[in-house]
Amino acid sequence: MKSAKLERTDGTGCHVPLSARLRVLLPLPLADSYDYKNVINKPALPPGSFVLVPLGRRQVIGVVWDDAPDPDLPDARLRSIESVIDVPPMTATLRRFVDWVAAYTLSTRGAVLRMAMSTPSALEPRAPQVGWRRAPHPPEGARITPPRRRVLDVLAEGEGRAGGEIAGAAAVAPAILRGMADAGLIEPALLPRHPAFALPDPARSGPALGPEQDVAAAALRAAVQRREFSTTLLTGVTGSGKTEVYFEAVAACLAQGRQALVLLPEIALSTQWLDRFRGRFGTAPALWHSELTSRTRRETWRVVAEGEAPVLVGARSALFLPYPDLGLIVVDEEHETAFKQEEGVVYHARDMAVVRARLSNAACVLASATPSLESTNNAATGRYAGVHLPARHGGAALPDVALIDLRRTPPERGRFLSPPLVAAVTETLARGEQAMLFLNRRGYAPMTLCRTCGHRLRCPNCTAWLVEHRAQRRLQCHHCGHVEAPPEACPECGTAHSTVPIGPGVERVLEEATALWPEARRLVMASDTIPGPAAAGAAAQAIQRREVDLIIGTQIVAKGWHFPHLTLVGVVDADLGLAGGDLRAAERTFQLLHQVAGRAGREEHRGHVLLQSFAPEHAVMQALVSGDVDAFMEAEADDRRPGHWPPFGRLAALIVSAEDERAAERTARDLGLAAPGGEGVEVLGPAPAPLAILRGRHRRRLLLKTRRDIAVQPLLEAWLAKVVVPGNVRVQVDVDPVGF
Ligand code: ADP
Ligand code: ZN
Repeated sequence: MKSAKLERTDGTGCHVPLSARLRVLLPLPLADSYDYKNVINKPALPPGSFVLVPLGRRQVIGVVWDDAPDPDLPDARLRSIESVIDVPPMTATLRRFVDWVAAYTLSTRGAVLRMAMSTPSALEPRAPQVGWRRAPHPPEGARITPPRRRVLDVLAEGEGRAGGEIAGAAAVAPAILRGMADAGLIEPALLPRHPAFALPDPARSGPALGPEQDVAAAALRAAVQRREFSTTLLTGVTGSGKTEVYFEAVAACLAQGRQALVLLPEIALSTQWLDRFRGRFGTAPALWHSELTSRTRRETWRVVAEGEAPVLVGARSALFLPYPDLGLIVVDEEHETAFKQEEGVVYHARDMAVVRARLSNAACVLASATPSLESTNNAATGRYAGVHLPARHGGAALPDVALIDLRRTPPERGRFLSPPLVAAVTETLARGEQAMLFLNRRGYAPMTLCRTCGHRLRCPNCTAWLVEHRAQRRLQCHHCGHVEAPPEACPECGTAHSTVPIGPGVERVLEEATALWPEARRLVMASDTIPGPAAAGAAAQAIQRREVDLIIGTQIVAKGWHFPHLTLVGVVDADLGLAGGDLRAAERTFQLLHQVAGRAGREEHRGHVLLQSFAPEHAVMQALVSGDVDAFMEAEADDRRPGHWPPFGRLAALIVSAEDERAAERTARDLGLAAPGGEGVEVLGPAPAPLAILRGRHRRRLLLKTRRDIAVQPLLEAWLAKVVVPGNVRVQVDVDPVGF
């Protein structure tokens, strides 16, 4: 309401008493809340109430915020609240969390509120919804065509389901449903008001814990029972039983009648995790992730707000749900970069989980076999408690890891699997055990080159090579989604059929494996072959039932799977993540390959891991062979400490982007000239951002690096205030950037 203030005549004309004035924060990219008058309702409408208000010609649902109304705003400028929405008010804890996240990430409060409201339609008044269910007494002799059969199968469970959902699940046109209703096969049914979540059975217990697990579980249980904020880093090798241990913390939280939240990096791949949860607690948790239907999202939001979801398992955005009384947050695989949101409000869910726990007087548990250096350092300095499980559960041995020096034993020309790796896979398959080949690259080949002129096929919108996906006969940009057909001739020199694939992706490894082991039953696990929970569950089951001999996968195979018959993991290109100037390249490569290696060997079978590398002497490769996580992390810390790199200093990035390269360049230069300085403050750049062109926008980057005891937000605010950014240029702030 800044403009309103300017037009103010002189602080006069205020007749609406302050007590009837409210500030409302709207879920729009606005930092400020707006004044409204409350003439319709009981005089006291508490902060947190959801209200429908006019904004221009629109109506918007906002939240009564704690900001003081502006006493000088004349009555004439005040509009009135239209109505109060019938949902539990947003708790003070969540309001403070919204404020905090906005201040930390330099986002507008409205943009953060939008995440906390999730889907504004969650707040719309609920008309009773009608769907369909199976008719209890279908007429005899009604025709059951295959589509009708599919509908009846979808409706097998008896409860009503929405028409759109049925049509989607059964792959039929809506007209089929009408026909079935006319034929008396299905009948209208009120939809269940919302998904009901049972309180997990407190009398149930999990497996008997080992002695070390017992100690760890007791520590976490105690943290929950204190009902005050704490953060615990739960570490332990893959297979040491961290999940069973934090399940005990969940049980302790439920016993207190508070809610528990578990964040998982890839919820769509977590079918095995959900099976274990159901096994432990006898019921399923509520779920929250981007693939939910909008109806389920809406209803789940309500259920959470009404306190009827005792346990919620979700992706990072689940942090912003309206839990009435959150007692525990677990962040599993806390080192995962999937917890960083890069679009819109740029935040790291692991860090914000700690903040949300603090504001909620809740316990926070960060779990990982390969914790981030940030968390390791926080545990070392005593900011976090540390709980460690030293061995695999049940005495299972860790896999032994060995290196294959590609300089000494290279693959044959045009191949990617070296003779020692081929021999090891052959032996494993001959013993009837499972093997896995890991390569963190989708598609057939990461680059296509013209044999005649050397031209490389590039994305028209990005600084990136086009990746060949041979199975789909196309070239694809992995950054913007651009797709084109493979050219008949080189677009540069015109020579026909002159392009050749350079380097391997998983499809090409599959091709080689098919030639080498034609009898083996093969399965590719990549995000394009395993698109969702159903496919992931089916793949995991096929592997567990030994219907697969050889798994070929990208990073999705690294995510906490248990494959009891898998005894050999071969890493095709262990050096892949080390190229490029990313500060965390070594840390990430270590984490990823350690997790991949951890898939091998469970129970009675010792696992073996072979890493193909051109740099076997590299510290990452040596650490993987020795398995010494601590030594590796200490070496990483020693590298970063002197330069005040995170976590020993603070970092923020400004990404300047524009379609017009010179406009981006100019703003970046202006920012460079206005850069803050002084003791413990340093600005690097402007320089081309890691993807110098992305989706047709030219990108420049500046990095602000400070000592740890200096807050970057005020520096960034003062800096940005000094530079006029033209309308066609965007400046994105990224506090604690991860990929650089
Ligand atoms: P982590 O998360 O540390 O990799 P998990 O919690 O996934 O380890 O446990 C690894 C495997 O060991 C799982 O199959 C799990 O069911 C099993 N397990 C862990 N603890 C126990 C226990 N106390 N009793 C029986 N099985 C266990
Ligand atoms: Zn692109």
